Amino acid sequence: MTRRKLSPQDLQEIRELASRWGKIVARHAFGESGPGTDIDLDAMEQVATAAVAGLSEGTLGTLLEKQAQLLGMEQPCPGCGRLCRLKRADRPLTVRGIQLKQSEPIGHCPDCRRDFSPQRPLLRLDGHGYSPAVLQMIVEAAGKLPSFPNAAYALCLAGVPISARHVERLTHEMGREMAQKRDEKAIQRRRRQLPERVATPPQVAAVEIDGGRLRTRAAACGPGVHQAENKEDKIACLVSLQSDRHEQDPQPEPPESFTEPRRVQRLVREMKGLPSEHPGEPAEAAEVAEPASSEKKAPPVEEWPRPLVRTCVASMRRAKLFGRMVAAEAQERAFYRATRRAFLGDGLAYNWTIQKAYFPDFEAIVDFLHMLCYLYLAAWATGGEQARRWSLYLAWLRACWQGRVNEVIDELHTWQDRLGKPLDDAELNAFDPRLLVAEALRYLHNNQQRMDYPRYRQEGLPITSSLVESLVGQFNSRVKARNKFWNRGEGDGAETILQIRAAVLSEDDRLSRHFAERPGSPYRRKAA
Ligand SMILES: [Zn+2]
Repeated sequence: MTRRKLSPQDLQEIRELASRWGKIVARHAFGESGPGTDIDLDAMEQVATAAVAGLSEGTLGTLLEKQAQLLGMEQPCPGCGRLCRLKRADRPLTVRGIQLKQSEPIGHCPDCRRDFSPQRPLLRLDGHGYSPAVLQMIVEAAGKLPSFPNAAYALCLAGVPISARHVERLTHEMGREMAQKRDEKAIQRRRRQLPERVATPPQVAAVEIDGGRLRTRAAACGPGVHQAENKEDKIACLVSLQSDRHEQDPQPEPPESFTEPRRVQRLVREMKGLPSEHPGEPAEAAEVAEPASSEKKAPPVEEWPRPLVRTCVASMRRAKLFGRMVAAEAQERAFYRATRRAFLGDGLAYNWTIQKAYFPDFEAIVDFLHMLCYLYLAAWATGGEQARRWSLYLAWLRACWQGRVNEVIDELHTWQDRLGKPLDDAELNAFDPRLLVAEALRYLHNNQQRMDYPRYRQEGLPITSSLVESLVGQFNSRVKARNKFWNRGEGDGAETILQIRAAVLSEDDRLSRHFAERPGSPYRRKAA
């Protein structure tokens, strides 16, 4: 069977041909002399739209019918091979722009007691009456827009009338397929059979991991929300980067965004929340020290490794299974062969379990911003004059920036002795000074070997996990909202919407590839 794809030039010729037919349509609609001065664009557009719809119907109707005729009077049952007589049955089919009625050849196998359409696999159609292109549109809209009703509305505007419920069903179904494909790849990788998808490995590869939160409900309990629970979703950002190596630390002093009180306060507030009377500079000092232009200065992030291509992995599964999925994606992108490799995360233990198990020769780097928050809060906890606390924060920040984490640990020990240790069984306020110092100490102590920031900068590696943090925000904007609950079951809830969201947020044509590879199915849907 020939499977000829038309070239762009072929398609351009067809367009020119149809353009000449357009002249006939125009004459037919408004006569030789053309439209009068009373005809507005709306009327003209209606004519053109009708012509396009008619042309699509005629073209697709003819092509589908010619192909159906090639199948002859009989075809073997796909289940048992028995030759079955073909009848015709009409079925609605939505393609880009129009809805058709397709006259479909249908066989019935008396042995298998099933109907089948031998033409569907040829067209890569299945039981849904949507062309692969339209199915992709539906799923893409559901992944990009904030809700299923929004997606349904956008689709209706685009000429695909569909209900929000139906968008939801199709999205979860495609999400299940994508989750399955993802899991198969994880197995392939473990068997060392997963090929790389890219021709050349990136120069710099970074894997960043973080978690978000979403609301879930028990599955299969009927309508409404049953046993609501907040659950964590795990998100990995895999990014190729461009950066230079340096002879020395290219930026030995911390950037202004980490030493400017308002920005630091905003950062800490966003990440951890703030105690009252935090150690910002006193108001008068701030006014003097702060020229009006300082807010407008570009953040240092732009000078840091430049992101090239981002893809992501998202799942509700536990860390071990998640690690395998991320490793498969890294394998496909040839990250293991990158010249320089980094793995970034906040201090959560499971991040480093994943790093050790699946990315052992990646440079493990703890996110500088998380560390900054611990330093800021520990400085606040030391009490006393605000200005003194702020300068303590600055000194600690600078020391950590310059790789002198040990010195800060020593000072924190001194403060801990002075303030006393938090009692194990006491219920302490989250901003209890003893607790804040203890937390900072534990954080620095546990992650010290992942805080060699001068060397990371020299190697042109990122030192913050800001890319995954913003990615988590992008996931949240789709999956997290008041009154938005996802089923906890595997098939039709949190796990499946995460796959679709990951696909639309990845710069790897994941959705197109899925739909291009998606086989059709000869079977009509069984009655439920
Ligand atoms: Zn059969």
